[in-house]
Amino acid sequence: MSDPFYSKGLKFECQQCGYCCRNEPGYVFLSEEDLSALLKETGLDRDAFIKEYCKVADMGYEKRISIKEKPNNDCIFWDNGGCSVYKARPFQCRSYPFWAMVVENEQVWEEEKAYCPGIGKGKVHRKEEIEDWLKKRLNQTLISR
Ligand code: SF4
Ligand code: SF4
Repeated sequence: MSDPFYSKGLKFECQQCGYCCRNEPGYVFLSEEDLSALLKETGLDRDAFIKEYCKVADMGYEKRISIKEKPNNDCIFWDNGGCSVYKARPFQCRSYPFWAMVVENEQVWEEEKAYCPGIGKGKVHRKEEIEDWLKKRLNQTLISR
């Protein structure tokens, strides 16, 4: 098998623009580990947290728990220019942009720059680190309903 296009690493450094947390509806899926961290952070019990902060995303083949948006389409945890649960933010948020669909090939990676100004800037993330994010994501079990 040939080396992936990111075999020499990829540059990424978050520019804190908040774009990926705001303005558009989307899905932030939760695993049990994500949910435990968020319950600890917010001090809520499972049912109260899901009622207050989550929506059910019907993916056709399954229904998953995802974080809600505010009426203006910002993530419900976006507050005062930042993530109000930053230390406990879900894996999906922490692992961006090293998602399988974003590092699928160089063209997709380059196109993602239109959404994320941190791509192509700052620190080089090594191939091993990128593959570690990908592997962890694959091994996650997302909560379904
Ligand atoms: S879009 Fe990119 S640069 Fe902006 S907050 Fe998200 S990860 Fe950071
Ligand atoms: S949980 Fe935090 S990091 Fe994730 S989308 Fe919401 S505001 Fe952004």
